[in-house]
Amino acid sequence: MNGSTILVINCGSSSIKFALIDTGADTQLVSGWAERLGQPEAQLGWKTEDARGSQPIARADHRGAMEAIIDRLEEIVGSRYGGTLTAQLAGIGHRVVHGGESFTRSTAITSAVLAEIERVSHLAPLHNPANVLGIKTAQALFPHLAQVAVFDTAFHQTLPEHAYLYALPYELYEQHGVRRYGFHGTSHRYVTRRAAQMLDRPDADLALISAHLGNGCSAAAVLNGRSVDTTMGLTPLEGLVMGTRSGDVDPSLHEFLSNQLGIGLADVTNLLNKKSGLLGLSGLNNDMRALEAASAAGDHRAQLAIDVFCYRLAKYLAALAVPLGRIDAMIFTGGIGENSALVRAKTLDHLAILGFRVDAERNAGHGRQSNGAITQDGSTLALVVPTNEEAMIAADTIELVRQGIAEG
Ligand code: ADP
Repeated sequence: MNGSTILVINCGSSSIKFALIDTGADTQLVSGWAERLGQPEAQLGWKTEDARGSQPIARADHRGAMEAIIDRLEEIVGSRYGGTLTAQLAGIGHRVVHGGESFTRSTAITSAVLAEIERVSHLAPLHNPANVLGIKTAQALFPHLAQVAVFDTAFHQTLPEHAYLYALPYELYEQHGVRRYGFHGTSHRYVTRRAAQMLDRPDADLALISAHLGNGCSAAAVLNGRSVDTTMGLTPLEGLVMGTRSGDVDPSLHEFLSNQLGIGLADVTNLLNKKSGLLGLSGLNNDMRALEAASAAGDHRAQLAIDVFCYRLAKYLAALAVPLGRIDAMIFTGGIGENSALVRAKTLDHLAILGFRVDAERNAGHGRQSNGAITQDGSTLALVVPTNEEAMIAADTIELVRQGIAEG
């Protein structure tokens, strides 16, 4: 663990996810979460390679939860590796959802950087304030440790103007920052780099499409290591069908629903974010596993939800071929992308026009026996590449820590 251990923090409004990563050995030592913060049922859970546990942290706020996390980590580190966590931590990496146009890469957090993250928080009012709270709490607990912000939006800052602008009055972009930003950048960056390693080719010479399919879903076109288009926009609601989010709808829908249902804009936004997508279509569940089981048992609406999900996905993946000109590989990642052979097969069947032909056996094995490949030899290549956002955040953090030491 010597000197290369990074604590990764993903702080939400009522939860904190964390991971302790030894970047030298490229291994995750501990991961866990604190959830339902502020409530009587607040809980802390953790797992290591061979053990797991949980404990109540009743009514803990973010600071209380972070202290409980550190105590738990100290105990695990002391008993397993010897020494103290605080003596071995090289830095803390924070996931930050929105960096606006200010942050094009991961950045060491100074007071000016923190102020800038707060300044762009109106772009992600549900997420950035919680991320800032996580940073401030970690700074209070570890005032002498380097803290790094890793932005979901940063990887997509290479989109060209014609890809990121909406066809709206230009002043809305200039004065209010209305444009497409894209999200899941840390995952798209990680899996496209991994794909380059798996293909044994430099990522500076690859045309890739990556589909991150978890509870949130987005896809990106990545040309020579740079994101050139993506499906999410000003907010993570745009684009693909997701667990509870609608993805693209007619922009007139807000007014229509407001009139028809007699509800306000905030309620319509809530409906599109929380009650739509797989959940809304199926009327059952937002979880793909549950929908696959229900569909196999004959539930028509579950089947329909999967069909809409895969069709929309295929249509948008085809659109992402436009900025690439060619496709060296299509990547599936995230809980659904890594585990659902059904979704991958249905989606790629829609994309026969781009030369994809699924290999049923490779796909059923999630590409594990075929270096990720789930398509037939001679077909356009599709790969399963497991994502690891925590590893990417830890790698960025240790790199900036080392640069700081070299410069300082
Ligand atoms: P998050 O975006 O919250 O990180 P994940 O990346 O873990 O979410 O993805 C969650 C989704 O992955 C859920 O819809 C879940 O049903 C789906 N999933 C996980 N395992 C499987 C599986 N074996 N088959 C189909 N879907 C799966």
